[in-house]
Amino acid sequence: MKIRLENVSKEYNLGKTKVRALDNVNFQVDEQEFITIAGPSGSGKTTLLNVLGCLDTPSEGSVYFDDKKISDLSLAKKADLRNEKIGFIFQSFNLIPVLSVYENIELPTLIGHKKTKSKETRDWIMHLISAVGLENRVKHRPDELSGGQRQRVAIARALVNKPACILADEPTANLDSDTSFMILELLQQLNRDEKTSFVFCTHDVDIISQCSSVVRIKDGQIVSDPRTQQSNGQPSVKEGVIIADATV
Ligand code: ADP
Ligand code: MG
Repeated sequence: MKIRLENVSKEYNLGKTKVRALDNVNFQVDEQEFITIAGPSGSGKTTLLNVLGCLDTPSEGSVYFDDKKISDLSLAKKADLRNEKIGFIFQSFNLIPVLSVYENIELPTLIGHKKTKSKETRDWIMHLISAVGLENRVKHRPDELSGGQRQRVAIARALVNKPACILADEPTANLDSDTSFMILELLQQLNRDEKTSFVFCTHDVDIISQCSSVVRIKDGQIVSDPRTQQSNGQPSVKEGVIIADATV
């Protein structure tokens, strides 16, 4: 699956002032890509992920899923497509407090047309739970978990429907380095075997060093994209230099 943004801008109105969180962004995610978006706080990374995943609507410009223009679709169709194709790992987890670890991860499999409770689905959920190291926490609720454990539930939940594209906002921010490494392996395996594409906003050097491309954003504009040689009046830099820069 391919997601494409064409001349996308996003403006937030705050009373008298306007914030231009995205400013004429052209950006594409192709099948099986593993991309990091790097940029300072407030540069528009989260807004970009939300627009890519149709959680937010651009003020100007268009979003395409496989050349299908999203604004032409009905709300229901858009929600179906998002649930089927996109997995989100949110910065703030967004777990359901009254559900257990297992039930939180299972939830996306019960939405939409699938409604499967097959043995295959149960086995896949249990596989994910052990892949993120939570086999001893299956029946716990989010308030009985640490921040890092909640983040791991959110990661497993994003993967459960085997979406074509995963959008992840600082996915390893709350994890110790061993767990972070374990999860990175799981994500790479999906990238390799299922051709899942990944877009990360992260400062995690381990993730960045595994990414095929590091795209840089500043003040809502893409200032460099090694895939398109896009560079906003800046001298073009080797990717290695960009990686070092992105970790600051
Ligand atoms: P980042 O993830 O890179 O830190 P964001 O995408 O969260 O940046 O924010 C980009 C800009 O848009 C910031 O100036 C932020 O304050 C503003 N912004 C983000 N979301 C909202 C919102 N819901 N309402 C108003 N302003 C917002
Ligand atoms: Mg953010």
